[in-house]
Amino acid sequence: MCKMEDVVDNSVNGTPPPAPPLPCAQPKRVLVKSKGISSYKDQCSVSTATTDLYDRLFDEAYRADVVVHTDDGGQIYAHANILGMTSPVIRHLVKESKGKNRRRSITIRGVPHDAVRVFIRFLYSSCYNPEDMEEYILHLLVLSHVYVVPHLKRECEVQLENGLLNIENSVDIFQLALLCDAPRLSLICHRMILDNFKAVSATDGWNAMKEAHPILEREILATVAEADRRQRVLCRKRKEKEMYVQLYEAMEALVHICRDGCKTIGPHDKALKEDEHPCGYTACKGLEQLVRHFAACKLRVPGGCAQCKRMWQLFELHSRLCIDSEACRVPLCRKKARAMVDTGATHNFITKREANRLGLRVVHSGGRMKAVNSEAQPTCGVAKNVNTRIGEWSGGLDFTVATMDDFELVLGMDSCTPARLFRCPT
Ligand SMILES: [Zn+2]
Ligand SMILES: [Zn+2]
Ligand SMILES: [Zn+2]
Repeated sequence: MCKMEDVVDNSVNGTPPPAPPLPCAQPKRVLVKSKGISSYKDQCSVSTATTDLYDRLFDEAYRADVVVHTDDGGQIYAHANILGMTSPVIRHLVKESKGKNRRRSITIRGVPHDAVRVFIRFLYSSCYNPEDMEEYILHLLVLSHVYVVPHLKRECEVQLENGLLNIENSVDIFQLALLCDAPRLSLICHRMILDNFKAVSATDGWNAMKEAHPILEREILATVAEADRRQRVLCRKRKEKEMYVQLYEAMEALVHICRDGCKTIGPHDKALKEDEHPCGYTACKGLEQLVRHFAACKLRVPGGCAQCKRMWQLFELHSRLCIDSEACRVPLCRKKARAMVDTGATHNFITKREANRLGLRVVHSGGRMKAVNSEAQPTCGVAKNVNTRIGEWSGGLDFTVATMDDFELVLGMDSCTPARLFRCPT
């Protein structure tokens, strides 16, 4: 014991008083506190002395007035008051029972004697040994359901959810949960069976269930098939979403490259800096390579090269989605042009104004152009390899930039082969 002088001395020295000694080691027990009892109970902490008292009352059977008969001739002595207060079913059984010398007798069969003992002890002190719970949890679940002991039933469900449920016993517990009206537990078991169907279907529990309850087996198999179907749909939707995200990022990067330029690639009128910091567009690097390929590829026709085909698709998709095509600098973005097809012309021609509108890159060529009934005039240059689509044909064409009075665009003989203007079955 701590003396008054010690306390005074300690406070003077500023050191805390020594900690009280640790309690004696007690056997490991789990106490279950039930919810929903009146408010004064919520504030009450049940001491081990109280639970020990009820355990002793059960163990010593002091003035016990009920004997519970179990399998193999086992007997458990108990008190009618306690059994009756914790289980309405046992209260009724005791009331209906007959006995000798004022000692009533009831019977609990179909489960091992030790499981009944753990059950009755729980009715006294709401306590159990974890090892007992692990060994008899299925019996306790059944007993708690049959004799209507909700706090034990809840405790069994919690223990199963928190580790005692496994692939090996999942089918047995699933069937018990259905019989014992434990919807949450049956749902958890069902989910475990679906998630690990291959392993579960190889267990003894599954084979026994197949024999005893073929209808239940069919129902589970149907849910497994449905779960598979849902998983496939989910997978497909995820892939579609990924594809949409990739396309969206590619669209953004395309606009960014054509508008701002990025490192080594961009519009003609932008000064590009190779040592610029990386931009925030995730698809920019991949698109940069694609654009480089597209600029250099000799085929550059839909179907001619997979990469070029992809580039065309991107241009086309952008063109369909673009909301400001007038200000947009992406090539082919709804920049349609009306052309005069002149089978007498040797080249393709375009006015300077139209070339500017379409954003074409014009290089000096030094050539001259001669129209009918007029003097030959120097041309303004040439726009080479312009991505052009005529009907279903698309490819690169050269346009001579010249002054023309009547038309903005003239397609000459070379460009207007039937194969380019019409679909010609061979
Ligand atoms: Zn970029
Ligand atoms: Zn290509
Ligand atoms: Zn656009």
